[in-house]
Amino acid sequence: MGKIRLMDEPLSNKIAAGEVVERPTSVVKELVENAIDAGSGTVEVLLEEAGLTSIHIIDNGAGMDSEDALLSFSRHATSKIENEHDLFRIRTLGFRGEALASIASVSKVTLQTSDGISGTYVHLEGGRLIDSRPNALRKGTDIKIEQLFFNTPARLKYMKTLQTELGHTIDLMNRFALSYPAVSFKLVHDGKTLLQTSGSGEIRRVLADIYGVSIAKKMIPFEGESQDYKVAGYTSLPEITRANKNYISLFVNGRWVKHYAIATTVHRAYHTFLPLERQPITVLNIEGDPYLTDVNVHPAKQQIRLSKEKELMELIHQTIRQAVSTAVRAPVIEQPKPKKKAYSPSSQLDLWKTSATVNEQKVTEQTAYTAPYTQQNPIEQSVTEENPVSNDTSNEYSPGQQGMEESPQFPELEIVGQIHGTYIVAQSADGFYLVDQHAAQERVKYEYFREKVGQADAMERQSLLLPLTFHYSRDEALRLQDNLDSLAETGVFLEVFGDSSFIVREHPTWFPKGFEQEIIEELIEQVLNGNRADVKKLREDAAIMMSCKRSIKANHYLQKHEMEQLLVDLKKADQPFTCPHGRPVIIHFRTYDVEKMFKRVMN
Ligand code: ADP
Ligand code: MG
Repeated sequence: MGKIRLMDEPLSNKIAAGEVVERPTSVVKELVENAIDAGSGTVEVLLEEAGLTSIHIIDNGAGMDSEDALLSFSRHATSKIENEHDLFRIRTLGFRGEALASIASVSKVTLQTSDGISGTYVHLEGGRLIDSRPNALRKGTDIKIEQLFFNTPARLKYMKTLQTELGHTIDLMNRFALSYPAVSFKLVHDGKTLLQTSGSGEIRRVLADIYGVSIAKKMIPFEGESQDYKVAGYTSLPEITRANKNYISLFVNGRWVKHYAIATTVHRAYHTFLPLERQPITVLNIEGDPYLTDVNVHPAKQQIRLSKEKELMELIHQTIRQAVSTAVRAPVIEQPKPKKKAYSPSSQLDLWKTSATVNEQKVTEQTAYTAPYTQQNPIEQSVTEENPVSNDTSNEYSPGQQGMEESPQFPELEIVGQIHGTYIVAQSADGFYLVDQHAAQERVKYEYFREKVGQADAMERQSLLLPLTFHYSRDEALRLQDNLDSLAETGVFLEVFGDSSFIVREHPTWFPKGFEQEIIEELIEQVLNGNRADVKKLREDAAIMMSCKRSIKANHYLQKHEMEQLLVDLKKADQPFTCPHGRPVIIHFRTYDVEKMFKRVMN
């Protein structure tokens, strides 16, 4: 006699629940998705003990008739897709028809629902129907999940602290609110309201509800379109940064998704506007034919497989970069307002942190700097000093060479002086400014070198007087030998020289003087890491490298005309507000805020 038998439905539901219902947040997610799919204008979520005791969700959507109310708890019961075809054109958040069945199998559920004609009451425990009867209710659905995981003690044991579980749910509700600004959401925990949005339809208002008004004011709108995709949303001015990518909210056709490559693309759009280790706050809505955006990847429906990914990434990068470049300005130091208690992650300006990092770095650079400044032009001086052998100045920066337009957002500045040999103090009609002289010069030089390096013919080469030698371990040398052609594409020809050494006799002309060895090592590194040598990235890195190494450091006294020249050059820069590493160049102290600090004006 065979040993295989079919499971009964409660058991198979309980197994499916293992994937769908990981924690209270997953229950909230599935139920709120159902409320949204039912066209609700308001969704209320009431939790007790982070949802482990009770999750109560009330919506004013389409509701169900009594037949559907019972059927909704069967596995594979859905009103959202009918056939295989529909699977490729999903426009609803749900489609798998297993959430209610799974949730019911690991909890006690009370559902009250009405389609406006008839109302129904249903009660289940551990997936088994206990009671059902007609019930009067206005149109909409009221569902209560009690004693979650009461019959799966192992799962219960995996719960983190109530704080952590609640944190996940707050985060989730924030994302729903951002992606459905026209729906009014309310989240209440043990009687305390943690989130309430108006449902006005404006994302900026939701941003204010979540992150506070001062952050919301510093969010820039963006919008763009390609052949297959539309993107729109809000992204923060570079002066607002976060330590991780959690504040980048990605929505594809209304669904909150996690997508590493998209989040990375958003960050990349801030290249030189943000320090590498800092992240923006972003709300990114992506619209595309459901046919291109496969969500049937995982039961929790948070991962997505995208077609035409390259086109989408390009669109995102361009749209966000364009919006940020036009909006960026000197960050304003505001007089801090009395703090309102917020439930969202801290809304304090991280700018302070950023400037602190700059200062720390200055200290180390200060000690490293030895040649005291004596002659008139520190800019040219530092260049020639660090490069005494080079008399070919074609790759050197000299001020005032660019014929670029002045930046319209850059203030008209009058120099007041310099402090600590590090910051230029300047004033204008709207207050005073501090300019970090090193960061300012880095920005100016970076743009100069980027231009220069970018123009040079990639393949045009020049010979070295003395060949450069490179030594590697045996295995690296072998791998390198296999990839010599990838390097050759960048104009670098390695010749095998003995066992595990190589020599290079010539290099592309765009290589800046004095950096040849470094650049070739970087290229080799890329190849050894299994990547193709990326000349575009390398040129960019080279421009940053040169700008940094050859800029005036801190603790370096400047004469007035030198400061003036630097500000003139800065004003002509494409992006004068951040250095190539994304740190601020200039900070604005508004007259009004200064007057407030001295209590010359009230409020
Ligand atoms: P799915 O959402 O994948 O269809 P669910 O198990 O989450 O599967 O829900 C089953 C069905 O129950 C839904 O297709 C929908 O018809 C109905 N339903 C669930 N929740 C609601 C609600 N809040 N309002 C109206 N109908 C609902
Ligand atoms: Mg559902």
